[in-house]
Amino acid sequence: MKSRIVSAIQCVLFALAILMVIPTAAVAQANDLGRNMNQPVPPFHIIGNIYYVGASDITSYLIVTPAGDILLDGGFVETAPQIEANIQKLGFKLKDVKFILNSHAHLDHAGGISEMKHATGAKFVAMDQDVAALTAGTAFPAAMPDRVIHDNDTVTVGAVTMTAHLTPGHTRGCTTWTTVARDGVKRYNVVFVGSATVLPNYKLIDLPNAPATYPGIQADYEKTFRVLRSLPCDVFLASHGSFYSLVDKRSVMSKNSAQNPFIDPWGYQAYILRAEAAFQKELQNEQSPAK
Ligand SMILES: [Zn+2]
Repeated sequence: MKSRIVSAIQCVLFALAILMVIPTAAVAQANDLGRNMNQPVPPFHIIGNIYYVGASDITSYLIVTPAGDILLDGGFVETAPQIEANIQKLGFKLKDVKFILNSHAHLDHAGGISEMKHATGAKFVAMDQDVAALTAGTAFPAAMPDRVIHDNDTVTVGAVTMTAHLTPGHTRGCTTWTTVARDGVKRYNVVFVGSATVLPNYKLIDLPNAPATYPGIQADYEKTFRVLRSLPCDVFLASHGSFYSLVDKRSVMSKNSAQNPFIDPWGYQAYILRAEAAFQKELQNEQSPAK
């Protein structure tokens, strides 16, 4: 419960920072809560060709292939140097990163992308509906796309394909990526959830005197829950570690457990139920506010 409150507060702060359009340098400084989620942690192998290269809660993933690598998310501006160090600690080369992908255009996931592009020379792939927020250069350094994608588009390097599922609401272009990881002879469906969180300052219902956060946001969230439910998931990952109990799973993993804790289809279903219940509660609050 405490962590849910903390993450709600964090989200408000980020959203405010984004909405207030303060100069980049001021916003890009992580506040105390942001710093808490942005602690350096050692990188590690998750499953198959997927590695964790992010911070304590702000995630970043490296998907490696003999033909080059894919990086999903660049964290805050301050996370980028951690990601660079983590990739190298694992023995991989920054120059081997061919593509950078993004979960959504908020400063805790896209803030470091400009720096990661610079460090790797990789091409940045952006979902069409998030391009305006990614390139505004207000809440975080502008992340200029080399390729603009749409719902169900794919990014392929060697034998590995990442598929982009538009899961909008949290941002207009919020994206849930999927791939298949091979571990020996086994194959696992991997889901990297963008986010289905309704931030506390969001407004879902569009009324003449009280407009929604953006037109169509309610229908967008409803689409997102339909899409998330439809995706086959063995390995559950996401843009924040707290969504999938990263800290606990990592600790189980370090004890050499026989079963990989990141294989968690039930955890994925539970996450969707929690997120959808929070969305429904927010809708009810807007329809009949507590007196
Ligand atoms: Zn976000």
